[in-house]
Amino acid sequence: MKILVIGSGGREHAIARKFVESNTVSEVYCLPGNPGMSNNGIKSVKIDITNFKDIANFARENEIDWTFVGPEIPLIAGITDFFQQEGLAIYGPSQAAAQLEGSKEFAKQIMKSANVPTADYRRFTDYQMAMDYVGMEPFPLVIKANGLAGGKGVVIAQNHSEAKHALNSFLLQHQYGTIEVLIEEYLEGEEFSLMAFIDRDKVYPMPISQDHKRAFEGDNGPNTGGMGAYCPVPQISEDIVTMAIQKIVQPTVDEMMNRRIPFMGILYVGLILTKAGPKVIEYNVRFGDPETEVVIPRLKSDLAVVISQLLQHKEPVLEWETEGVTLGVVLAAEGYPEQPLKNIVLPGLEDFKPIVDKIDFAGVDTVKNELVTTGGRIYILHETGSDIVDAQKKVYNLMTDFEVPKTFYRLDIGYRATVK
Ligand code: AMP
Repeated sequence: MKILVIGSGGREHAIARKFVESNTVSEVYCLPGNPGMSNNGIKSVKIDITNFKDIANFARENEIDWTFVGPEIPLIAGITDFFQQEGLAIYGPSQAAAQLEGSKEFAKQIMKSANVPTADYRRFTDYQMAMDYVGMEPFPLVIKANGLAGGKGVVIAQNHSEAKHALNSFLLQHQYGTIEVLIEEYLEGEEFSLMAFIDRDKVYPMPISQDHKRAFEGDNGPNTGGMGAYCPVPQISEDIVTMAIQKIVQPTVDEMMNRRIPFMGILYVGLILTKAGPKVIEYNVRFGDPETEVVIPRLKSDLAVVISQLLQHKEPVLEWETEGVTLGVVLAAEGYPEQPLKNIVLPGLEDFKPIVDKIDFAGVDTVKNELVTTGGRIYILHETGSDIVDAQKKVYNLMTDFEVPKTFYRLDIGYRATVK
């Protein structure tokens, strides 16, 4: 098979690398990809990910068997519908189904109809009305920009002045193009991510993982795209996971079927285990990043075969590693997430060759034959250990082997699994 992966980050590197491992696959292209992927034999294709026409032409000319979409933006913009109209195979939700991520309001409506537990919320477009509401509610309150803000449109306001600042940015300054906010009840508890392969009303779950969204140790500092993750999450019991699948994931996809918007693709559910059981924070309509980089290495089955089976509406064979823990740590440029340094020179691609199966590159490029950073997250290193502590020891040893000036990483990835 020849496979095309859309995207350029660590998530796409992890997925494309898994496809390369398959003996049913002859070529893997990543569009636009990044130079770090070449160590695994993944070929970069320099086409803009919003230029569906050129992507479809590329797929046709290169006899691509099917396309896999990594990020949400092309899905929400309708790449799946476009490919299908062109008679090309693609695994990902339609534009209508991608509204589960594209519109927080749509997601809340689905949860309400399906009886899926989530935070209570109210919607506002008017700044003054939102401020009046904030004046009546207890803190903390969660203020979310409705729309796509790259994970940055969520503010947990601890007091009146933080709420005022967030509402001012979103509703008066229209930060991230926002015209509407949701103000949500704050949910307290352990967070975890549950991803599943979906074929309309069929749910094939993956093992759960936990991301670390804040920039600094102890979950301090600004929210980022994710600084590290691990899989599985020992502090969340099997019973809770089963409950989340039965009471949350299955009713969600059933409700999409009821509305004649069947979901095909990866569904990611961000959850918080509250005293009243697991509740949904958000849906994503694709693999999470960096969760994918620690979940996919634990898949023993052939991912290319799994996707082919799903595209034929067949039940995929999914076998997962059950022993040990896989843990990944993100290296980020100094200043990330606000003002990341760019053009930091990294060791050469050759230097990373001995660890090709443990590294997923994100924001890197080659300039004058040097591998340099393009801002933000640079790469994620991951290791599997017998338990969290063993995996931490291995991955942090690897991080120190590749120290890069003007970069940083968190030293405590996985700490929540070790606190008693
Ligand atoms: P989101 O972009 O919706 O994933 O939100 C970013 C982060 O904000 C989540 O990972 C949570 O840590 C936090 N968050 C979002 N919604 C809530 C909520 N209702 N209660 C508590 N924390 C939340």
